[in-house]
Amino acid sequence: MIEDYSSLLKTRLSEVLRTTNAHLSALKDLRILTIEDFYYYFPKSYRDERDMVSISQLSLDQVNVVQGTLAKLLSRRTKTNKIMTSAWLGDDTGAIEVLWFNQPHIQRLFRNGDEVILTGKIKYNGGRIYFPSPKYEIVRQKQLHSARLVPCYHEHGPITSKWIREKINPILKGTAFLPDPLPEKIIENEHLMSYGKAIRTVHDPHNEEELKQAKERLAFDELFQLHLIALKRRQEFRNKFKNTERVVTVSPENSREFILALPFELTGAQKKVIEELTVDLGLPYPMSRLIQGDVGSGKTVVAAFALYHVIKSGFQGALMAPTEILVRQHYHTLLEFLGRYHFNIQMLTGSLVNSVKRDILRQIASGTVDIVVGTQAIIQENVSFKKLGLAVIDEQHRFGVRQRELLQKQGSPHVLNLSATPIPRTLAMVLYGDQDVSILDELPPGRQEIITRLVPEEKRVDAERWIADQINKGRQIFIICPLIDESDVLGVKAVTVEYERLSTEVFREFTIGLLHGKLATDEKEHIMSKFKNGEINILVSTSVVEVGIDVPNATIMLIEGAERFGLSQLHQFRGRVGRGAHQSYCFLFTNYKNEVSLKRLKAMCEYASGFRLAEIDLASRGPGEIYGVRQSGIPDLKMASWADGVLLQRVHRAAYRYVAELGIRKITKGA
Ligand code: ADP
Ligand code: MG
Repeated sequence: MIEDYSSLLKTRLSEVLRTTNAHLSALKDLRILTIEDFYYYFPKSYRDERDMVSISQLSLDQVNVVQGTLAKLLSRRTKTNKIMTSAWLGDDTGAIEVLWFNQPHIQRLFRNGDEVILTGKIKYNGGRIYFPSPKYEIVRQKQLHSARLVPCYHEHGPITSKWIREKINPILKGTAFLPDPLPEKIIENEHLMSYGKAIRTVHDPHNEEELKQAKERLAFDELFQLHLIALKRRQEFRNKFKNTERVVTVSPENSREFILALPFELTGAQKKVIEELTVDLGLPYPMSRLIQGDVGSGKTVVAAFALYHVIKSGFQGALMAPTEILVRQHYHTLLEFLGRYHFNIQMLTGSLVNSVKRDILRQIASGTVDIVVGTQAIIQENVSFKKLGLAVIDEQHRFGVRQRELLQKQGSPHVLNLSATPIPRTLAMVLYGDQDVSILDELPPGRQEIITRLVPEEKRVDAERWIADQINKGRQIFIICPLIDESDVLGVKAVTVEYERLSTEVFREFTIGLLHGKLATDEKEHIMSKFKNGEINILVSTSVVEVGIDVPNATIMLIEGAERFGLSQLHQFRGRVGRGAHQSYCFLFTNYKNEVSLKRLKAMCEYASGFRLAEIDLASRGPGEIYGVRQSGIPDLKMASWADGVLLQRVHRAAYRYVAELGIRKITKGA
């Protein structure tokens, strides 16, 4: 009997299990050292063997579970010198012959008269019906391996499912004494099964309903812990960067003026995010918010709203984008929204002559520049803002970790990240830690649908002819190629091969540009601007073309080897077209024939929302594969799933309430 149950979990299995060194060493491979590790080695699936049949009911086409008495147990050698053990299994309704091939231990294990449960298919061969090599278990008080929902585990060497069931069952009693890690109130409010019962149930479920509750409980715990960590990180960030000097006044009059002057009506989603920003800007610590929204959802105007109030309150603003082309694009968009207020808005790019650059830097330092639009160069050491109130960062994943440090040097301004990579909100929260997340999940009215089609190899020629026709009508086209092999990290080989093929065979009469990761930045920009200006008909590229470039005349996005990309990435590519007046198309070329694999790609044809696609992507691939586990720090989940939006929402709310009740200030509206 173990007295101290708090130490129960930490008890080493080598002290409590009677087993061999080979088993212990295999357990070690699986990182199962303590009782807790063992409890947490959850089954991967369950076999439903609850329906037993009598011998007269045995059926040829399914797995049968049948209980009976063994008789005439006999082993002999076959002509090929193998051992065959035979017996008869009988019950009130009849008897059937059982044959085990090459399992000499059967003869030692059983005696005539033993009550056993056999599981397997029966066979009809040469005029007789028999049971070939069924699974077996002696009838005991409690069946472990048959006649129940049988848990099946990932097996490793001598650690078989059967072995685990034998070993774990006796120590499951201890679960009754496990302290529950969740606060009682949450367990009550959320109607959760107790912790100990949940652990016991996943290894020994009575029925599906109970199993479902147990899994839900353990998934809840797993996600709850992650949310607590994220909330704590956020709190620490806030305490560290208290900043009463950066409080921006968002006056309702100014807001109204800004909104009324816009050339369009804001979408509902934009209005909601603007409300969230209004709260953030007035708080005594730097805002750290991520706005996620599909391409074209109108993130820039929302950022302009924040910049506008920041300037009105006497601060400066910065808007950063990953490339010069995007910087120029943003600059013009900002002028569209803010031009009428006569703010001093400057562009700071690498291509400026030094004297101009020096002059702008001086103006930034003296405070005469209100807004600087530039690449990340604008927060480098040699730039010093007089009073930076807000930094807007477009496509933040392109910036390094040093970005926050640099911003700190500029007096810890508010930070607004814009991203067109949709990640479900709750996942984003765990992923991005100290950031609040806003979502623009609504496109402005009147956006055209991009017609998306899967193109099998046999339709290639037709498709290429159609595309040539479109180019002759003046349209432009993107062609994206995946990496062909591991060694081709930058995809140079893949695009080069395709570029050759297209320019010598298929599209000889057109001008084709080539873009890949090995080109220098200014070369890349040069090709992009030629494409933008219409000097190039076709741009063949690796995935480097991903970020928000705007080429209204490009109407076709053709993706080779589409099955090699994730849905979120495909969706990003697709967002590069459909920006002008012409109907746009996305063609996914694939050699895949397999229905299951095609299903994922078909979702692209069906859904236009990046968030919907991100969820589907998550359900089929998991976040590690999509976002890269290392890079993102997303932990592997044992029980929960990132695709379970409903549970994630519940956990999210519970964690917020819990933290709020602990006395930590509730920070975000609507949480
Ligand atoms: P993204 O979210 O991809 O950065 P942008 O901010 O560039 O999107 O906006 C795309 C286009 O939509 C811009 O031309 C912008 O002026 C326009 N736009 C933004 N919001 C609205 C709206 N509510 N109604 C109509 N057009 C809008
Ligand atoms: Mg944008």
